[in-house]
Amino acid sequence: MKYVYDAIIVGAGGAGLYAALEASAGAKTAVLSKLHPLRSHTGAAQGGIGAALGNLEEDKPEWHAFDTIKGGDYLADQNAVKILVEGAVEAVYHLENMGLPFSRTADGKIDQRRFGGHTRNFGEAPVMRACYAADRTGHMILQTLYQQCIKNGVHFFDEYIVMEVLIENGKCNGLVVLELATGELHTFQAKAVLFATGGFGRMYKTTSNAYANTGDGPALLARAGVPLMDMEFFQFHPTGIYGMGILITEAVRGEGGILLNRNGERFMEEYAPTLVDLAPRDMVSRAILTEIRKGNGIRGDKKIDDFVYLDASRIGREAIGKKIPDIAGFCATYLGIDIAEKPIPVQPTAHYAMGGIPTDTQGRVLRDASGAVYEGLYAAGECACVSVHGANRLGTNSLVDLIVFGKRSGREMAGFVKDAGFGPMPVSAEDGAREKLGRLADGKKGRPAWELGESMRETMMEKVGVNRTEEGMREALSILRTLREEFGEVRIAEKQGEFNTELSGVLELENLLDLACLTAASAERRTESRGAHMREDFPERNDGEWLYHSLIWLDGGKYRMDRKSVDISIFKPKPRTY
Ligand SMILES: Cc1cc2nc3c(=O)[nH]c(=O)nc-3n(C[C@H](O)[C@H](O)[C@H](O)COP(=O)(O)OP(=O)(O)OC[C@H]3O[C@@H](n4cnc5c(N)ncnc54)[C@H](O)[C@@H]3O)c2cc1C
Repeated sequence: MKYVYDAIIVGAGGAGLYAALEASAGAKTAVLSKLHPLRSHTGAAQGGIGAALGNLEEDKPEWHAFDTIKGGDYLADQNAVKILVEGAVEAVYHLENMGLPFSRTADGKIDQRRFGGHTRNFGEAPVMRACYAADRTGHMILQTLYQQCIKNGVHFFDEYIVMEVLIENGKCNGLVVLELATGELHTFQAKAVLFATGGFGRMYKTTSNAYANTGDGPALLARAGVPLMDMEFFQFHPTGIYGMGILITEAVRGEGGILLNRNGERFMEEYAPTLVDLAPRDMVSRAILTEIRKGNGIRGDKKIDDFVYLDASRIGREAIGKKIPDIAGFCATYLGIDIAEKPIPVQPTAHYAMGGIPTDTQGRVLRDASGAVYEGLYAAGECACVSVHGANRLGTNSLVDLIVFGKRSGREMAGFVKDAGFGPMPVSAEDGAREKLGRLADGKKGRPAWELGESMRETMMEKVGVNRTEEGMREALSILRTLREEFGEVRIAEKQGEFNTELSGVLELENLLDLACLTAASAERRTESRGAHMREDFPERNDGEWLYHSLIWLDGGKYRMDRKSVDISIFKPKPRTY
């Protein structure tokens, strides 16, 4: 089938739905999603959405901007951060007006709590900035936005997997899409396309991310010649459930939980004397691994898969029930423990992609370091890189990013399609995708896809994780490149067209393999430590040489790289202490 829309949004998480809501005010709009919209990973967001409402104590967007920029180790574009923090306040009230059931203070205002790296008066002490709906904030955002989209007549294509983007002479004309229910290919023609396909934590062995977080958007755009930005910066959240990676929100520490080593010491006092357990995630993750290396992990064997304790008992049973009920439920289900009495065993878990598809502050995708943009091509949310998170995102700032930049991109698209025409669709638009499906179904079989996936996840975890060295990354890149080549021999056993999840899983693996290679290549090149990118061989930040965004192109079997300047128009870079 061929479908035609003014505006198409790929992805139905918070970013995609907000963009669809705005675009649909002025354009015939469709949302394509490989999952039912309410199963998008935004629904798993627990802790909160940051906005300087000042409901419980004084707060200002300017302080929020400072924290975001410092937290990102000065790699965020400060003009974009200003838009983020100012837009956050309006966005939270807009969500409230649309019916989002926020948790409330006794006098009926939106309640707020502390979160890592968010401070008052430029770093003095933690501030209550995270607005929340118990520990189901993302779930409530998704429900609210989905209802509004349905009300506004947005067309949804659920379980449609985008395989290819059609770009010609710098203009995006449409998409090639696989319908999961039938196995049929379709083309979608559009004047404007926005990618909001979320993160790609699934390239790591231990991750908080859903199975669907496979980076399809960035990978298929990279294969179409679009650069990706700051791919070396991948955030590890300090508190994943030991051995499973399931996230224990930072809100547990925001509500008073603390980290302890095997000697019962609150070790974060040593690493971050002012913010202690509420230091930014990159610092806390590194501190945990340092403790483990010293033999202070709970097992004490100095192996990197050791763990520490997160003690939530101090919060008290009643507050646990009100403020973090889902966390208590996860721990009862997966660990068999009552967190009001026993500490939670935790270790860092791969969580969030700071890098991705480079955009300007209107969501338009950049072609190169000069700021030139593609026509009719947009990106927002975790798959995009505006960049507001720099080298390390603060907790609660992703949900803000989705809402503020999802909205701006949707509005920009609605304006753009008014005057724009449709670009040409090649008659044989589906040929490339059809040929790929044919190749996966027929012929001699190489190594099974699951084996390649396992090797990729282990390699990324061991060599491109929290701590990195030149030698480790070289090895990683060589292994990953071989895996990428071997992928050419992957064959699927399941031939039927309907609901072929073996096929969709293999398509996702290809995307992860490309992004893993691009991450390792970018990380090897950056010879400094900044935010989440920690080089043991270059432990210092080096602003003289590296205060740049990195751009990387997938150029056949090679990687082409460039640098893009960072906007530092508000706060000059300083050493980062907490
Ligand atoms: C467990 C967890 C807890 C979190 N808690 C918080 C928090 O408290 N506060 C905070 O600020 N951030 C939090 N984050 C981060 C934040 O939730 C995510 O960064 C954010 O929700 C991503 O939203 P998104 O709209 O970009 O994408 P997602 O919500 O991930 O949605 C992606 C969409 O893209 C679609 N898609 C993907 N590939 C394709 C394809 N090929 N074809 C068609 N559709 C496709 C999917 O179907 C889906 O609809 C958390 C993340 C996790 C994993």
